[in-house]
Amino acid sequence: MSELAYPYEAPASQALFDRAAAVTPGGVNSPVRAFRAVGGTPRFMVSGTGPYLTDADGREYVDLVCSWGPMILGHAHPEVIAAVQEAVARGTSFGTPAEGEVALAEAMVERVAPLEEVRLVSSGTEATMSAIRLARGFTRRTKVIKFAGCYHGHVDSLLAAAGSGVATFALPDTPGVTGAQASDTIVLPYNDLEAVHAAFAAHPGEIACVITEASPGNMGVVPPLPGFNQGLKDACAANGALFVSDEVMTGFRTSRAGWYGVEGVVPDLMTFGKVMGGGFPAAAFGGRADVMAHLAPAGPVYQAGTLSGNPVATAAGLAQLRLLDDAAYEKVDAVSQQIQGLVTGALSKEGVAHTLQNASNMFSVFFTDRPVINYEDAKAQESFRFTAFFHSLLANGVYLPPSSFESWFVSTAHDERAVQRIADALPAAARAAAEATA
Ligand code: PLP
Repeated sequence: MSELAYPYEAPASQALFDRAAAVTPGGVNSPVRAFRAVGGTPRFMVSGTGPYLTDADGREYVDLVCSWGPMILGHAHPEVIAAVQEAVARGTSFGTPAEGEVALAEAMVERVAPLEEVRLVSSGTEATMSAIRLARGFTRRTKVIKFAGCYHGHVDSLLAAAGSGVATFALPDTPGVTGAQASDTIVLPYNDLEAVHAAFAAHPGEIACVITEASPGNMGVVPPLPGFNQGLKDACAANGALFVSDEVMTGFRTSRAGWYGVEGVVPDLMTFGKVMGGGFPAAAFGGRADVMAHLAPAGPVYQAGTLSGNPVATAAGLAQLRLLDDAAYEKVDAVSQQIQGLVTGALSKEGVAHTLQNASNMFSVFFTDRPVINYEDAKAQESFRFTAFFHSLLANGVYLPPSSFESWFVSTAHDERAVQRIADALPAAARAAAEATA
């Protein structure tokens, strides 16, 4: 422990965690925050500035989570804060239409060509849930294809991820999801077009849509193989199903136009969240105007939300999108590449078998020497090495996602000082990973 820059204990965070556990299941409001995959005390954060977070014990960390993606300009960006303050002063919710939501929708439509119309909601879960309902309403079909390892929020039918092999009818993965909901979901291995063709052949006229993460980041970063997304689009088109691209994580992050901007495959429907909300609960789904026309009040498929298009959230999102010009993406991509190089250099120096994968500036490390193209590959890594790596970095002031199945995120605010902090912490972390035992 002599190499650690910080004492390992986090008494103030632990005290808050104990208080939280008395009133909140597991002490957290979203499971991965509880550190169960890595053990130890979850850090309760008090403030964030640029690339740094400060916890309840007064320790500062370089943040490589960025709120799981949204904070692409860093924490408390002055122009985003100013936009929020200006909006808050005018009132926090009207329950009526307001100009901010029009402006945010216009900004999104302008950046993402396949997005002809967009409906704002409050979370990525709501966005995917509504897109699936719309796809079912439009096609008048029930079944949905999703891929193992892709996360689309906690939508009942999309939590089904069990069952490997081709065209498996998934069983409920979690108590509370009914067999009927799960049986309408067909879970297939990611990056496997043959499985998709077989599923369409086995269920003619039954499949409403295929939903996929545009480039998955929820089993670690596992980009689509060349031609996979186009193959999905073509299979959907040939079989009268809709192609739904979930860009909640990649949208406005992997490029100005998200993963669509990288690959150019045109989906029928898309979902968004994270970056477009500027750190507030804002999300969206949209796409083909003829499909979106089926949505209430224009059409019969119902969807609504008390806080949808909230004026403070839309002000934050719009401010963030306006600041995200080409130069901003160049900066995030460059610092991401720099950090990726440092990580792989440190691990290689210690002889730690690893595969670093990226989707533009999103990246993650798998503790295996084999490429990871699907969830089975991701699960085959030596996760115990990640645990040692994670805790060493945490103790030395670098905050990674507390799981080996998550993307790492950086921002325009990650400057040389922040990168140096990571560089200084990596050698000990790589040694810890090398020495870790299962
Ligand atoms: N879709 C993807 C690809 C995600 O990464 C997430 C969340 O991480 C969601 C949907 C769900 O979004 P939310 O957590 O805002 O409900």
